[in-house]
Amino acid sequence: TEHQRTALITGANKGIGKEIARQLAQHGFAVFIGARDITKGREAAEELCQQGYEVTFIQLDVTDPVSIRTACGTLSQKADHLDVLINNAAVLEDHGENIIDLNPEMLDRTLKTNVSGPIMVIQYFLEHLQKSHAGARVINVSSGAGSLAGMGTYAPAYSISKTALNAVTRQFAGALRGQNIAVNCVDPGWVRTDMGGSSASRPVEKGAETIVWLATEAPQSETGKFWHDKREATW
Ligand code: NDP
Repeated sequence: TEHQRTALITGANKGIGKEIARQLAQHGFAVFIGARDITKGREAAEELCQQGYEVTFIQLDVTDPVSIRTACGTLSQKADHLDVLINNAAVLEDHGENIIDLNPEMLDRTLKTNVSGPIMVIQYFLEHLQKSHAGARVINVSSGAGSLAGMGTYAPAYSISKTALNAVTRQFAGALRGQNIAVNCVDPGWVRTDMGGSSASRPVEKGAETIVWLATEAPQSETGKFWHDKREATW
């Protein structure tokens, strides 16, 4: 229908992103699954469609402005607004590196995907978010590794990228205050995915919980904050 809520999730072909897609579809959203790989993205969308959910695949590589622009055009053809944008796609390429011998090319790749990617995606989809009826919500999936209050010794490139993503969240929240677009970031905890590994303590259902809560039930007035388990956390 005209007022059906819509959501776009980046990197939603697997892991926490795919689970967010499933849970938002369960809440009645028309969900757009962003994925850089066409085969993997289509497979994930088909799997969720077969479970009865309303999901559509959109090719979206967050490091590629042409891909983002094309995805914007595709969304325009299928929906007249966007209520929820979730910047979930990220890479973790550190292999126990210490900052002292950090590979600068690896750092560049990490920042490109985890920081510049979300910035570009918000910039391009802003016109769709501005057409939301109820007020739009942008949620950036961050990490406890981005917290400067923590140890600061784990996966330096990744940690730096998530601290920067928290700062990006503050910047957009400030810039979009008054436009009824809330911008928040979330630490999902340690989650069993390809990135988190099989020893992680949380299933994807739990990892997606606070993100989905921010997308649906949290007050629209909450913006510019870092969340963990439905509470504001320090970073
Ligand atoms: P996964 O590695 O399982 O999934 C990452 C997703 O991001 C994949 O779909 C991947 O696509 C996609 N992706 C990577 N680069 C790009 C790109 N350039 N364009 C589009 N998509 C891309 O990770 P998780 O599900 O665990 O992580 C989801 C989010 O949660 C990330 O932001 C992560 O940093 C965060 N997080 C995860 C934790 C955990 O314990 N798992 C802990 C804290 C935070 P492809 O399949 O093509 O590679």
